Amino acid sequence: MADNKRDYYEVLGVGKSATEDEIKKAYRQLAKKYHPDMNPGDKEAEVKFKEVNEAYAVLSDSEKRAKYDRFGHAAFDPSAGGGSGFGGFGGFGGADFDFGDIFSSFFGGGGGSSRSRHNAPIEGDDIGTRVTVTFEEAVFGCKKEINFARVENCAECSGSGAAKGTTPETCTTCKGTGRVTVQQQTMLGYMQTQRACSACGGRGKIIKTPCKNCNGKGRVKINKKLEVNIPAGIDDRQNIVLRGQGSAGINGGPAGDLIIEVRVKEHPLFIRRGNNIYFEVPISFAEAALGAEIEIPMLDGSREKYKIPEGTQSGTDFTMRGKGVADVNSKRRGDLIFTATVETPNNLTSEQKELLKKFAASLGENNNKKKKSFFSKIFGK
Ligand SMILES: [Zn+2]
Ligand SMILES: [Zn+2]
Repeated sequence: MADNKRDYYEVLGVGKSATEDEIKKAYRQLAKKYHPDMNPGDKEAEVKFKEVNEAYAVLSDSEKRAKYDRFGHAAFDPSAGGGSGFGGFGGFGGADFDFGDIFSSFFGGGGGSSRSRHNAPIEGDDIGTRVTVTFEEAVFGCKKEINFARVENCAECSGSGAAKGTTPETCTTCKGTGRVTVQQQTMLGYMQTQRACSACGGRGKIIKTPCKNCNGKGRVKINKKLEVNIPAGIDDRQNIVLRGQGSAGINGGPAGDLIIEVRVKEHPLFIRRGNNIYFEVPISFAEAALGAEIEIPMLDGSREKYKIPEGTQSGTDFTMRGKGVADVNSKRRGDLIFTATVETPNNLTSEQKELLKKFAASLGENNNKKKKSFFSKIFGK
């Protein structure tokens, strides 16, 4: 069960029979002592602060305190056995405990060090788009014009949001910091906390005359055209990522990326699997029986001669090593694998039919080994 966790009473330094007031008082002192604003960058204080808050959240609630007294930490640990009996504490699991809510209910401000800063640099959004290329373009590479929309800093006001000839003024309320310190009477006494400045929305600057082009936002969505290099060997559904071609960042943050998904059209003959190419090559009955030098189409449109042996059966695969697609990264080439399919002659003249009959008779029983074993499997002969 949950156990290297310190006892909540011990954390607050109170006895098991402490009154609500005593608990509150102990919490008030410790929360101030370990408050992140009083201990900037101090990890240990942060951990203590969290621990104190967690203990208080339980001990200040009579129902939770009663459960804690009975079951200890297991009452709030979803991983502990029998946890289902303690429904109603969903999400209140030990280490994942979020003190933000309790904290803000006491201090009236954003919680701890995780508060968002409105003027912090933020990375721009990534943009996804798609481009379709032909089979050959994917194999050999090409250039494609890509159209997409992205958010850029407004050129009219250089991203400031203030009309031409004016500049954003430093917010007098927060003196440009975007945050204000407020002193508040809380149930724990006077506390100083920081919050986003409401006068400037936390930006630290106020725009009196907004830029017309961007309505004071400093950012505009624009349609972009970009010529993109599609690398040789790229395959269907692979992505090309262009760093920094996405939307502009905010407050000096870096731009996002442009992610282009490549779709490759099917080829009428070639089928690609990885970097190998597959297709069928029809051969005549005579070529299959006698063997022949046949022409094989290559990816680049040329042809290469290939010798198929005599007695080639229909459906036999032949591999031409290194004649497939060059890998997009390693440039190592895959193979070209063709399947020889024997075409049975049709529309024969009566003369050809006679010749074939003679041919068949000449074969006798000698050359039908497969057929014989086929029938023997069925009829046992
Ligand atoms: Zn503008
Ligand atoms: Zn302000």
